[in-house]
Amino acid sequence: MNISFPEFQSGSVWMVGAGPGDAKLLTLYAYHALQQADVIVHDALVSDDILKLAPPDCVLETMGKRGGVKSPKQQDITDRLIELANEKKKVLRLKGGDPFVFGRGAEEALPILKENIPVRIIPGITAGIAGSAYAGVPVTDGACNQVISFVTGHDQSGKVPGVNWQALAQSSPVIVFYMPMKHIDIIQTELLKAGRDPKEKVCVVSNATTDQQKHIICDLENCFIEIEKSDMKSPAIMIIGPTVDLAHQLAECF
Ligand code: SAH
Repeated sequence: MNISFPEFQSGSVWMVGAGPGDAKLLTLYAYHALQQADVIVHDALVSDDILKLAPPDCVLETMGKRGGVKSPKQQDITDRLIELANEKKKVLRLKGGDPFVFGRGAEEALPILKENIPVRIIPGITAGIAGSAYAGVPVTDGACNQVISFVTGHDQSGKVPGVNWQALAQSSPVIVFYMPMKHIDIIQTELLKAGRDPKEKVCVVSNATTDQQKHIICDLENCFIEIEKSDMKSPAIMIIGPTVDLAHQLAECF
């Protein structure tokens, strides 16, 4: 393989997207970074299969924010990354999915740059795209949508996000929610109030792309009850829109 990668310098931080779970979805760039790192500071969402790819002498530290679980403060994570870089380590900050998609990538990178520590961002495959795909749901389809929206199910304080539901519902045929589980009842109510068809299909995919992947498809009007009954757990994404109808034909492709 003839690809030239930049040098992973001691005393720098590489912020790498690990994808949604399946190790096969790592980018070559991420794989290369894993081979070079002295220390990997990873999110709670990064799968064991991926961490196993690190060399035996590489130190692994878990440091990730996780809804509902006691997790380190953002400041603590940044401080630790700065500390390790100042010890002249090759510091790999490994994040689930893509660092810049609901991943606080910029929030972590900016204070590190302020300390004159070099940072390199390596994008990853985001759960909203690959997770949907693994359930057979394309996020766009020529016959269905020209617009797609990625929405977080809750803001940083855990509250329902300040979304203009009317505008969202009317302008975006396909909507992918990250972190939907906490407020599915409100998401359902708001989308119906904003005029979405009660019979429109919703797909929820949990632990997408891993061995524990589960998905259910139900109608918007009863998705809250159906998801409660299904015992699906986080991490999960929720897709609503006409492309969900394609899952019956495409789910077998993964
Ligand atoms: N930066 C990540 C998103 C982090 S926010 C990315 O680009 O994918 C965390 C949320 O991502 C989870 O609550 C869930 O909504 C989603 N997520 C991450 N991994 C997932 C997985 N394997 N299956 C389903 N959802 C996942």
